This record gives sequence, structure tokens and C-alpha cells, in this order.
Amino acid sequence: MYHRVAEESCDPWGLCVSPAAFADQMAVLAKYRAAVDLTAFSSGEGYSKSGASIAVTFDDAYVDNLTAALPIIEKYEIPITIFAVSQTLGRRREFWWDALTRAILESATLPVSLTLKLGEDVREFAIDDRPEDRALAQNWVADEDGPRTDREKLYVELWNAIVLLPPEAQDLVTDEILLWAGASLKGPESRYPATREELSGHAGHPLLHIGSHTRTHRSLPDLSLAEQAEEIEGGHRDLEETIGARIDRFSYPFGRLNSSAKKLVEALGVDVACTSAVSAATSTMDRLALPRLQSVERDEEAFTRWLQDEHHLLLRVGR
Ligand SMILES: [Zn+2]
Repeated sequence: MYHRVAEESCDPWGLCVSPAAFADQMAVLAKYRAAVDLTAFSSGEGYSKSGASIAVTFDDAYVDNLTAALPIIEKYEIPITIFAVSQTLGRRREFWWDALTRAILESATLPVSLTLKLGEDVREFAIDDRPEDRALAQNWVADEDGPRTDREKLYVELWNAIVLLPPEAQDLVTDEILLWAGASLKGPESRYPATREELSGHAGHPLLHIGSHTRTHRSLPDLSLAEQAEEIEGGHRDLEETIGARIDRFSYPFGRLNSSAKKLVEALGVDVACTSAVSAATSTMDRLALPRLQSVERDEEAFTRWLQDEHHLLLRVGR
């Protein structure tokens, strides 16, 4: 599982792999002839090669998937799946989690207090921002470290609150936080999602498959059944219209699902759906809830060791 092929100094969720490291990693998959299309896992082919098969996926359809990743996957002939969020395509703004990172973790200094209306609640935050905390946040890995400073605690609290809001409220609150932090409302275009035209322009590309990642990237288990249907069926329909072809794969936003969300996905007739559970997929697993391994910045040697030693993949000798 990848998200972005880009370099960012602050990347708390490990979403970025640099173009150089991504090229190294694709070279490894090519050397071991390990890469298969994701639907190989629904046909059983992906499991049958005893650890040799790896499908490359990208969540969220960031523009760099097409500008930075595509030339590399073409060079090494690696099939990929890009999971797109239909109503974020072409938006001239960052995803809310990237805007939040820019506001809270990248701003030079933060004011001492923040009052924010989050849904029905008015929340007050007090921040004791020390001069060294910004630098500390640049190397923060949120999943591993947990929040260490007021800045990082604020980031986690806001993230956990914003994820539950509807998309219009997410935009409004994010803008309010950017203004409060003294950051510009407009983030770098390199962090934007691709446009519909950019995506549909690659429909039919022999290596590039498009999958659905819902309509607006809400946390599905926190929604009503009607809202889940809107997100899952709506996003699927939008995307089929955009690319003019059937969509046969799906990825759950934030990797989160429950039984009703999975039933809705199943009703779409997709062949395979991915979570973010951290594991290699095996043949006994549900093809509508396949786990994935998140690839992070690693060079050729480290990437090979990670797959072989930690996950018992790539066990065949490269040819
Ligand atoms: Zn996503």
C-alpha cells in the first residue's frame, strides 16, 4: 500500500515514499517477477505462488501517482491500482489531513489557545508550544511514537474529531485551523488529488487500474446505513461514469469497515476490497477485506529485507 510518491519533511502517517526509493522498490518487484494485478488475489492466483506475488496499490489518487509513480511503473512494467475518492478529484485543495499537518505540525509557532466548534461541541485547547517542538514534529511517526508534545497532542485530538465530521464541515474547520495557525489557506498543488480528466485520460492504460475509495473518504463505521450507501454506491457510480468502464475493486477509507459497509461493497459485485490491516494476504482471508502492508521510505536492500525477513515474501530467487 502506497499513498504518495513525493518528498515531504513532515509526514506523520508515513504516506510518502520518495521517487528514488519508489524506483528502487519497483526494481525489486521486477527483479523477483513478483508483481501481479490486485485481482489476481480474487482469482486465487495471487495466493498460489507461495509468497511471490505482490500487488501495488495507491490510496486517495494524489496527483503524484500519475506524475511521479506512473513513469516508474511503466519502466518496470508493474501493474498498479489507484483507489480514487470520486468527489475529491479535481478539488483545488489538500485533503483535510494534509492541511491539518501543515497547520499544526509545520507552522513556525502556534497561539496559546484554540476554541473550535466541532460538530455540536465547542472545544477549548490550551497549547504550550516550546521552540523545539516544531523541529521534533518533523520526524514524528504518529502510529509508533504517540503524541509527545502539545503540538502533537493537538494534532491527534483534532484529527480524531475532524474524521467524524461531514465533508463540508471538515473543509470549514480545516480552514479555521489554518487561519488560527497563521498558515495560508491554499496548500501546495503537489499535494492535491488528481483531476477527473487526468484520471480518465489514463483509463485503459495497460498497467493502471482504477478502484473506488468512496465518494468523500468518510469513516464508514461511524455512518448510518444510508450514509454508507451514499459513500460506497455513490462513489462507485461516480467513478464508473468518470472512467467509462466497470470498477472491480474497492478500498475502505482509513482501512475502516464494519459488516454493513462490507455488505454494500459486496453488493457492488467488486472482486476485491482492501483494508489497512497490517499483514500479507493469504488464501484463507476474505477477498473483500484483504490486509495490506504499507510501504515506507526504504532503499532496494532494506525493501528486500523487509519483505523477505519480516513478511516471508519474495522467497524465490530473482531471475
Ligand atoms: Zn484513503
